[in-house]
Amino acid sequence: MDGRNNTPEPTMQTATATCSCGCDTAHVIARRNTFDGRELQFWSDGDVTLVMGFRIRGIGPAKSRYAIDRDIEAGRVLASMATLLDFAEVARAFNVLRNLIDRSRWDCDASIERAAFRALAK
Ligand SMILES: [Zn+2]
Repeated sequence: MDGRNNTPEPTMQTATATCSCGCDTAHVIARRNTFDGRELQFWSDGDVTLVMGFRIRGIGPAKSRYAIDRDIEAGRVLASMATLLDFAEVARAFNVLRNLIDRSRWDCDASIERAAFRALAK
């Protein structure tokens, strides 16, 4: 023991619907407009919807703890990409991000955006 705390720092939020504001019910934590002007809402439980919580075809709610944590991370990355995407690309981009995160297990950095844009270009 050398006095350091060797507990790994959590890399992401682990509570299902709790964000830094302390509210424990799912709520909108960010909004972004797509390139073609559709507003996306990003929820504290990882969900991504249209305004008023209307579902986006191809994006279903996460149903497990793992999926919620993964979708929170996918949403964080999607929020950074949203203004570069047309609305028609959003569901595919979100699912590309889910798959990238599933394979890399939270290893998100700037390269995940590049990987997602490469996958979308195919
Ligand atoms: Zn909050």
